Amino acid sequence: MQLTVISSDKTQLIDITSQVQDKIKAQGVENGLCVLFVPHTTAGITINENADPAVASDMLNVLNTVIPWDLDYTHAEGNSPAHVKATVVGASETIIIENGKLELGTWQGIYFCEFDGPRTRRVLVKLLRDQ
Ligand code: ZN
Repeated sequence: MQLTVISSDKTQLIDITSQVQDKIKAQGVENGLCVLFVPHTTAGITINENADPAVASDMLNVLNTVIPWDLDYTHAEGNSPAHVKATVVGASETIIIENGKLELGTWQGIYFCEFDGPRTRRVLVKLLRDQ
């Protein structure tokens, strides 16, 4: 099972929480685990505040400042900072499902992290039911 995510900017955090929740509902999983995996080398996934959009833009600002595009990189494709950001953020998240809902904190959301867009991307979803 997978989600399709279409990014529109070079670097972008895209809230996919409701898409993931919809998959859980469609599959009828009441209790278990949701494993999300991004099969890309220049994108990632993270969980953070989605109440104030300034948090997402601040995170991108810090990543773009700490890992700039204009260092002396050697990777011929020219997108080394996107690879570095993907490693810093990570490629997967695991979230507990209780009573058909993601057990996220009040202010938490799931962000797909685009670091070399715009592109059409995939997020793999595996739902494991409690026995
Ligand atoms: Zn590359």
